[in-house]
Amino acid sequence: MAKNNFIFAVVITVSSTLFFIEAFKNSRNFITRDLSTSQNARGSQLTMMARKPIIAGNWKMNPVDFGEALDLAEKLAASSKTMADDVEFVVIPPHPFLVPVKEKLEGSKIKLGAQNAFTEDKGAYTGAVSTPMLKSVGVEYILAGHSERRTIFKDDDSAVGRKVTKILKDGMTPILCVGELKEEFEEGLVEQVCGLQLSKDLRGVTADEMRKIVIAYEPVWAIGTGLTATPEIAQSVHAFIRKWIEKKYGKEVAEEVRIQYGGSVTPETVDELMACPDIDGALVGGASLAADKFSRIMSYKKL
Ligand code: PEP
Repeated sequence: MAKNNFIFAVVITVSSTLFFIEAFKNSRNFITRDLSTSQNARGSQLTMMARKPIIAGNWKMNPVDFGEALDLAEKLAASSKTMADDVEFVVIPPHPFLVPVKEKLEGSKIKLGAQNAFTEDKGAYTGAVSTPMLKSVGVEYILAGHSERRTIFKDDDSAVGRKVTKILKDGMTPILCVGELKEEFEEGLVEQVCGLQLSKDLRGVTADEMRKIVIAYEPVWAIGTGLTATPEIAQSVHAFIRKWIEKKYGKEVAEEVRIQYGGSVTPETVDELMACPDIDGALVGGASLAADKFSRIMSYKKL
């Protein structure tokens, strides 16, 4: 009897200790995020749910050489192994490199993204690549509405909206890019432009679908120009985008959606940008082509 009581007491003590350790760990996670939110009083106030930051490298139409692409993927895969588990990493190579890059990323922490997709599954669409094709080679993220697609290839908002819906329907994550031109920035039209793009590109998207989408705020004047939006500018637009989502889908959804900043992000600017309460990641172009630079961006310092 006394032995049974003793075993019972040990079990209770061990399980309550484990319970308190777990509760302490959880409360620390919330406190850390809440502290960074309130210390950084530039953005929305209370963060109810921690959003997993996402750092993505858009290689655009680079590198020209297959060997260079493999070398870059191999270096990034190796450096990702020592990186944080609480950050998501994605590389977005050109279509011909997707499969070999995926092979190089095997066993690393980096996921695969694609730069574009068409909205039909198959058929007589010369030059196009479909979402089921991309899914079948391991793509998890697809860009939609990148400013280079909008300006050079004339993807309009209705095409971008259809792309977003199709990517979701086929079980992948759209990274929807929005952002204003230089003249629009100078004329103070940032919120109007981003708000309009969001309403057109997300037409018909349900609240549950919205939770899965990643938004990238990419001021067009900052893409590939070496001009980065200051953390204050970026944070204020991100806060606007989150408010926009809240008005349409409610606070809970808005608190879950990850919003990346994109526009000449470098190892020198990433830490300050990532310290902003509404910036949940970076979409990186130029600097994602150099393994050392992108590795430093992936392992940004939490200020
Ligand atoms: C991009 O391609 O989305 C981008 C932001 O490019 P860069 O970092 O070169 O400005």
